[in-house]
Amino acid sequence: MFKVNDNYLKLPGSYLFSTIGRKVREYKEANPDKDVISLGIGDVTQPLAPAIIDSLHKAVDEMAVKETFRGYAPDLGYEFLRNAIVKNDFEARGAKVTADEIFVSDGAKSDSGNIQEIFSADNKIAVCDPVYPVYVDTNAMAGRTGVYNKDTELWSDVIYMPCKAENGFAPEFPSEVPDIIYLCFPNNPTGATITKDALQKWVDYANEHKAVIIYDAAYEAYISEDNVAHTIYECEGARTCAIELRSFSKNAGFTGTRLGYTVVPKDLKDADGTALNALWARRHGTKFNGAPYIIQRAGEAVYSEEGKRQTREQIAYYMNNAKIIKEGLASAGYSVSGGVNAPYIWLATPNGMTSWEFFDHLLENANVVGTPGSGFGPSGEGYFRLTAFGTYENTVEALERIKRL
Ligand code: PLP
Repeated sequence: MFKVNDNYLKLPGSYLFSTIGRKVREYKEANPDKDVISLGIGDVTQPLAPAIIDSLHKAVDEMAVKETFRGYAPDLGYEFLRNAIVKNDFEARGAKVTADEIFVSDGAKSDSGNIQEIFSADNKIAVCDPVYPVYVDTNAMAGRTGVYNKDTELWSDVIYMPCKAENGFAPEFPSEVPDIIYLCFPNNPTGATITKDALQKWVDYANEHKAVIIYDAAYEAYISEDNVAHTIYECEGARTCAIELRSFSKNAGFTGTRLGYTVVPKDLKDADGTALNALWARRHGTKFNGAPYIIQRAGEAVYSEEGKRQTREQIAYYMNNAKIIKEGLASAGYSVSGGVNAPYIWLATPNGMTSWEFFDHLLENANVVGTPGSGFGPSGEGYFRLTAFGTYENTVEALERIKRL
């Protein structure tokens, strides 16, 4: 008789965004005349840039012609895209990454969830708290997280690094040394970043303790401050301790188009000297059949002069929303952070409300949807996330409503 993988049965119940979806649906059903504005889910709203659309059309036409038709893509991704990535995302930043260290994928969600597969089942992970939920959940599915405590909402075998106002939403070195350290900057959900010097200290820590850093740089394009690294490979020694995850979702609006990549440097080896690059190549080649040619051509267009200019404009549009949210909330007396190097604004809930109480308060009294901080981990309790990914008009309207509360 078959049995399910009981690691899945240990996962905590409802998923954050489905709970939000249900609550919003119920509210709308009960109040059909209300205009509800969502600044909740981190999804883009601007259409794909013209340079990307042109490239998509061209690639589709190539697929209609026998001579230029393409079947399966190479496992690692097409060279034209990997070369554009190397040149623009790494060489331009003074970081050394080669094309054969880049693994093109369908996005950072799957990569951030899958990458744990190449590590030993007894490796201990450390995560920021609050955190993008995929890191912990996928390690839980792999049986690496121990026992879940419903009251504390913590797993027994996970090292949590609380990120709160007291420490500037930046993780501190844990007292117990982890094997795998997940870092995400600019951060989802807090919108926080750490300086390049602070990131260098994490790289030094990982090298010293023979730990690996899984560095999620999905929001890299939103960095506006000079002292924040765009890639972990700007730090000395990162090639021996860090894997980097990248996404085209937020820098170029590919949330529905799907494209990302992971960097696994050839210098990265485990305690026995096994190279992770070869291991990930094996895993990638076995379980993934390549991102579509058409989409990889669209990704290449992101790096064209026009593509860069157009996507920069979109990011500026969202960051203007971030400024409106941040300044609007601050003027209404809220304590706010983020929104400078990230499209996320993190606010402390007023009057001692819990994150979910504030969610209901905002939905019912301002008809605005955000994301309760506690959904990202216990240290997110008492906080709330708003995203800058809405339209300008909705963002302005939402803030007017919040100010009137
Ligand atoms: N990593 C972080 C931190 C994210 O916030 C997200 C999406 O919200 C992703 C990865 C997923 O990116 P993708 O759309 O490439 O799967």
